[in-house]
Amino acid sequence: MTTDAEILLQEVSAYLKPKDVEHIRQALEFSDHAHKGQLRKSGEPYISHPIAVARILTPLHLDAQAIMAALLHDVVEDTDIRNEELASTFGNPVAGLVEGLSKLDKIEFQTKEDAQAENFRKMLLAMAQDVRVILIKLADRLHNMRTLKSMAREKCERIARETMEIYAPIANRLGLNSIYQELEDLSFKHLYPKRYEVLVKALKVARGNRREVVKKIQEAIQERLEEHHITAQVQGREKHLYGIYKKMQAKSLAFSQVQDIYGFRVLVEDVASCYLALGLLHGLYKPIPGKFKDYIAIPKANAYQSLHTTLFGPYGTPIEIQIRTQEMHKIAETGVASHWLYKTGHSSFTALHKKTHQWLQSLLESLSQSGDSIEFLEHLKVDLFPDEVYVFTPKGKILALPRGATAVDFAYSVHTDIGNRCVAAKVNFELAPLRVEMKNGDCVEIITAPHAHPNPAWLSYVVTSKARSQIRHALKTMHFEESAALGERLLSQSLASLGLKIQDIDMLNWEKLLKETGVKSRQEIFADIALGRRLNMVIARQLIRIAETGGMQEHPATSSVVTIMGTEGMAVQFAKCCRPIPGDPIVGIIKKGQGLIVHTHDCPALRKGRGGMDKWLDVVWDKHINRPFEVSIKLIVANQRGVLAKVAAAIADAESNIENVHFTNEGNYTTLYFTLQVGNRIHLARVIRGLRRITEVVRITRIKSMPT
Ligand code: MN
Repeated sequence: MTTDAEILLQEVSAYLKPKDVEHIRQALEFSDHAHKGQLRKSGEPYISHPIAVARILTPLHLDAQAIMAALLHDVVEDTDIRNEELASTFGNPVAGLVEGLSKLDKIEFQTKEDAQAENFRKMLLAMAQDVRVILIKLADRLHNMRTLKSMAREKCERIARETMEIYAPIANRLGLNSIYQELEDLSFKHLYPKRYEVLVKALKVARGNRREVVKKIQEAIQERLEEHHITAQVQGREKHLYGIYKKMQAKSLAFSQVQDIYGFRVLVEDVASCYLALGLLHGLYKPIPGKFKDYIAIPKANAYQSLHTTLFGPYGTPIEIQIRTQEMHKIAETGVASHWLYKTGHSSFTALHKKTHQWLQSLLESLSQSGDSIEFLEHLKVDLFPDEVYVFTPKGKILALPRGATAVDFAYSVHTDIGNRCVAAKVNFELAPLRVEMKNGDCVEIITAPHAHPNPAWLSYVVTSKARSQIRHALKTMHFEESAALGERLLSQSLASLGLKIQDIDMLNWEKLLKETGVKSRQEIFADIALGRRLNMVIARQLIRIAETGGMQEHPATSSVVTIMGTEGMAVQFAKCCRPIPGDPIVGIIKKGQGLIVHTHDCPALRKGRGGMDKWLDVVWDKHINRPFEVSIKLIVANQRGVLAKVAAAIADAESNIENVHFTNEGNYTTLYFTLQVGNRIHLARVIRGLRRITEVVRITRIKSMPT
């Protein structure tokens, strides 16, 4: 065993039970064995990395499960060990932590807009489910940052930027002060190596010059507090490097100006002593007005508590002072991890947290009520999971959606047009139905089709109000507008057969017609015609009569054939029994309340219904139709391995899509029923030619006799 490994075991023995230490030793050996032969970029054996990660966590006194997970965190990703094996060897909680970590590893931060970074941080927190996953992840990142120089320049920069924008703020938010500062300083070093060097040197010089003054002030403070019987620890304090740099940037200050301040921390025994010490120090040196802040009464969001004040120092230099209790100091340094670190906490520790903020407040309170680790984690799980899920667009943007949102909600949140035209979704690069529920970290792509329309069924599962109202709106206008457009064409065909152009009818005559029929608008008359509520021929004759009395010109009769453009939407339906495609001879039927239904000439279902009350119409295909149509074919194939794959490949090769397939097995043969998308008969012929080339295909027929 390496020295590192032994030190780790010593460190955990200091605060964990022998049984836990033994488990950690087993995890250590397991990981060592699994990573055998692998090297870090630096040339060290790989195991040095997980050990270093675990050792970053021991000062926080993380529990045995977390230390084990830290040791095993790269085993599943980088070796052929499976997560199941971890679960059976080390138990589900450890395997769960490792799985949570590899999930986080799969997502990559891409854009650097502020809002995106914020969403990304939230998503990481939400995905982690267990705060220990985040703690291990931060330790992992910290060690990678410490050993970053072995990487290529470009990769270095990307990782440093991601650390600066994502991980350091998370560490800060969780109150892990020393991890936060080190992450920032290391990122700074790799992003701006020159500035970093200059600052390091300047800081070294400044420290030497200041030593004397710092010592004098420190002694003066110490003395004054002792005179009044306040036991205190007085420490000189320095900003971390990046903190100095940020201040220089934000206030356009020179290094010497930022440095021209002395920082001290005064640690006392209880809250009352904090305020006493404050009073005494304000007596020692004059306070600078407006600089006093009471974070004890009003803690920061990450539970930080302290009194801050700035004084005029003996040589005219300001002195910044933080006054707090030992317990507040522990929280300030280790934040959320103080739960593990100071489990035994006394009453003042409990009282300390009464006024803390937001989720950290509630979770720390739950700790004070139960002190039970499991309950603490349960609480944390809920609090880490807000009511939102975070998903990626294909371009790497992150959208926040309410919990339970579906692909349709996603589509509408991207753009109303995408919602209105969506037909399917790809979630994590796999085809998924539109009703699929979004999960944190999903990468979602919406597939649209130019002629697609919202489906009323969507209303039963969308959760966002935007999707709901847009679907309702689209359904309403779509139906009416499409019907009206078709009705207008139907009427104009009838008028033409009677020798009249629809555009020649003037407004006066239309108004007369509206009065006679009692309908409010022309559009409504058209819609009525399309939906079979009024007959186009009847309206046409009515108009002719009105026009004749008004004295309009007549034109020679032309054909009364209606052209199907394929863009009529819901106003024209293609019969499911025979599934007509462009090139097929077709016939139209107007059904009351349904509008125009197009069948093939030879549709068997049609023959049965002939002579009924439905109104027949001559229809032809427009020459320039350019949209996919569904067609059904039946294939009999010999049972051979891989035949379905061959068939699917041939269909794809002919640039057709499979909408649906089902099959029945009879002895040596299988019958496959496909619904395909094709542009027209020529396209279908091309698909069939491709299928014929497959030797296992015995027979191909197009189906035109499905029951309606
Ligand atoms: Mn790692």
